[in-house]
Amino acid sequence: MCYAFEDIGLGCFWSTDATGRVTYFSPAAQTALGGEQGCIGRSFNELFLPSEGESERSLPFLMTRMRRFEGHVVRSERAGSILWWSVSAEPVMVRGAFAGFLGHCEDITSERRSAEESSHLAMHDALTGLINRRRMSQLLERTLTNCAAQGSPCAVMMIDLDRFKQVNDTLGHAAGDALLKQVAERLVRVVGNKEHVARLGGDEFQVIFPGEEDRGILGGIATDIIAVASQPYSIDGNRCIIGASVGVAISPFDGDGSEELVRNADLALYAAKGGGRGGFRFFIKDLLKAAEDRRLLEEDLRDALERGEFEVHYQPVVRAADNRVVGVEALVRWNHPEKGMISPVRFIPIAEESNLIKGIGEWVLRRACAEAAGWPGHLRVAVNVSPVQFADEGFPALVANALASSGLEPARLELEITESVFLQEGGTTNERFKALKGLGVRLALDDFGTGYSSLGYLKNAPFDKIKIDQSFVRGATEAGSRNRAIIAAIDALAKALDMETTAEGVESFDQFDLMKSLDVTQVQGFIYSEAIANEQFEREIDSGVWVIEPNGPALQRHDRQAMFRRIGVIHDEHYYPVVLRNLSASGALIEGLVGVPVGTKFVVDLGEGQLTVSTVRRSRKSQQGLEFEQTLVADGNGGLCTRSRVSSYPLAAAGLPANTRVDGPHQMGRREDGKASMPAFGMASDWNGAMKRSEDD
Ligand code: C2E
Ligand code: MG
Ligand code: MG
Repeated sequence: MCYAFEDIGLGCFWSTDATGRVTYFSPAAQTALGGEQGCIGRSFNELFLPSEGESERSLPFLMTRMRRFEGHVVRSERAGSILWWSVSAEPVMVRGAFAGFLGHCEDITSERRSAEESSHLAMHDALTGLINRRRMSQLLERTLTNCAAQGSPCAVMMIDLDRFKQVNDTLGHAAGDALLKQVAERLVRVVGNKEHVARLGGDEFQVIFPGEEDRGILGGIATDIIAVASQPYSIDGNRCIIGASVGVAISPFDGDGSEELVRNADLALYAAKGGGRGGFRFFIKDLLKAAEDRRLLEEDLRDALERGEFEVHYQPVVRAADNRVVGVEALVRWNHPEKGMISPVRFIPIAEESNLIKGIGEWVLRRACAEAAGWPGHLRVAVNVSPVQFADEGFPALVANALASSGLEPARLELEITESVFLQEGGTTNERFKALKGLGVRLALDDFGTGYSSLGYLKNAPFDKIKIDQSFVRGATEAGSRNRAIIAAIDALAKALDMETTAEGVESFDQFDLMKSLDVTQVQGFIYSEAIANEQFEREIDSGVWVIEPNGPALQRHDRQAMFRRIGVIHDEHYYPVVLRNLSASGALIEGLVGVPVGTKFVVDLGEGQLTVSTVRRSRKSQQGLEFEQTLVADGNGGLCTRSRVSSYPLAAAGLPANTRVDGPHQMGRREDGKASMPAFGMASDWNGAMKRSEDD
């Protein structure tokens, strides 16, 4: 019976003497465990590898106890491969004395492997091999508990790819999968630790940084991630480009539970995407309010079209050579019943995400065509087309219908399209272009210079015009800017390809003159006119030819942004509210205190736990120039922040006011004698005025 059990390989038997040396071992297992040498006469323990985990009881321990044990799992190694065994044993007593063990063991390697595989599968993303959402959430939970116990921080980064969906839609899912794999590899290379990078699903990734709170370092990593993810990919011979946006939240400042931290990192990510994509953001408390405002705006947006709250305004596009208006751009406005005029910059992205853009876009198109049909025949009207509208198969038919029902000549309609509609050559983009061109309308490439501006797009797409973005125009007048050379190149290319160029957002004469010298044919900007309502527009064109004289400041000002922001400074035991007038990485100008000697040390409270030590370097009446001991770092949003923060509990315990809205010196903590101490500095007499201005801000 025993031998049958051994022979069919179900298991094997063994016995040892009182010292633990093997006296019997089933022949079948002898080679697997003992090799050529066999097992007889050797120490039973030595046939197996030492146990891995400290917590488990080791085999030698069980053997020295001389008691029964069952199903103890051990490993052995044979020719480089690991085998797993389940070992059970019964002590043999001879006249009351321990004489050795009699036991059996079983090779459980294959069960063990499949269990490992399925647990690997359950915890990993099959496509990229990264850990999955489930494992990441367990890991984060555990890491946060450990960090909290040690009083150390932990950062969470959420990463989302920009325009991944378009790759998926145009090149197919297999290409999308291949792209995700490459993205995962690049991410791991930047982060360094594969175990801390997860793919949550779709094009969403999450990374954790236990022990890290330095926003300078985290901002640097986020920048690297974005740069690396934005490098071109080669997929089945197709070249494609995507981008990435990153949101960061850091415990304990931005939440101590994993759920709150992840939600806040998500809000930061959302803000990064809203900020033009391809950027990173740190979570700040304002984002919670912004998310709520947005939700309310989206609710209102649902009925805005029905309630007739939209208007179309028209901004003249002027020929720079003779100041003649040659066309206009239709710009949608939302006249909200309570909030007043809301900029399209705010509501178009919401409309795009909530699928309301199709209705709004159609309304603008029909309205603009209908109004333009009544203007003099030489005036063209440009209408902005969202990538969401452009991607819709029915879009060319809609344009045809708007033209037919308004009677507008197709050549007078110009559709403004942004670069984001094409990521790769071929696919549906070309068909859509063909269909639209077939209607006889003009196409303009809008916002050139903001995205992945590639001259390659221009070579292959049938554009009639390139619109140079205002940020590009603005940058061109800055010293040492390469934008001029690029604009000159765009212009030469446009001429060669028989396209017009329009410079957008021209406000001052230095910009205007530069654009003229670079041979840009048309200018659209406040130097000529803002967007105006149709009635006013019709009055202006009544006279037939409409000429506008340029009018604006001589130079565009690049000075430091002046600001009015309430902050606080701490000196001795006192907290003083002051107004921040300007801020740079190395220092700040504050207003509100008088009698502050040069050399005074202040702890500056920039809000949300951002404290930084500074020294007064200049002091004039109620203004002091401060130099920071530690420079600030970029917050990813064009602003600055401190590298690390102090969480609110110790601040409150130290008597720091919960916000900077205290209206005079505030004593922190209590002196031992219980008496209040005198503040060292006075508040400026016009301080209230400055505060008032900061509140109006
Ligand atoms: P855009 O198509 O690049 O339009 C030009 C924007 O620049 C307009 O902002 C215009 O008012 C502004 N602008 C023109 N000249 C100057 C200047 O000299 N200085 C400054 N600071 N700004 C100037 P607006 O009307 O707020 O529109 C913003 C964006 O919203 C547009 O950028 C466009 O992308 C989008 N948008 C507007 N209307 C529509 C629409 O009907 N459909 C879609 N899909 N998007 C629209
Ligand atoms: Mg436009
Ligand atoms: Mg534009």
